[in-house]
Amino acid sequence: MEECIFCKIAMGETSSEKVFESDDFIVIKDANPKVEGHLLVIPKKHYRDFLDMPPELYEKLLMTARETVDKIGVKEFNLIMNNGKFAGQVIDHAHLHILPRKEDDGFRI
Ligand code: 5GP
Ligand code: ZN
Repeated sequence: MEECIFCKIAMGETSSEKVFESDDFIVIKDANPKVEGHLLVIPKKHYRDFLDMPPELYEKLLMTARETVDKIGVKEFNLIMNNGKFAGQVIDHAHLHILPRKEDDGFRI
């Protein structure tokens, strides 16, 4: 998967702003944030999307999201995962968006 940008980020071959890391995931700032503080929870191993991930990782994915929002002190946020082209997935390496929300921030799902 040497052409995958998130694999390169996970391996440290491409730079990113890492805000948290667990055994199986890294959490980085989105390069093109939709809201202030937009983060991505990315499995270190390559999986195409949610369905491609082993179900044993689902709890760890959400726990990593939980530990991240606790760490940064965010209380209001959306968790969004785009799976497949028609669902808006652009990067074909599974990732969970953390979108901190503020009043009148203009973001619409
Ligand atoms: P998707 O639409 O696939 O769910 O979201 C992909 C996200 O990855 C987008 O929000 C986009 O801004 C972000 N992104 C794409 N390339 C890079 C990159 O090289 N670095 C980082 N940090 N984010 C990226
Ligand atoms: Zn990948």
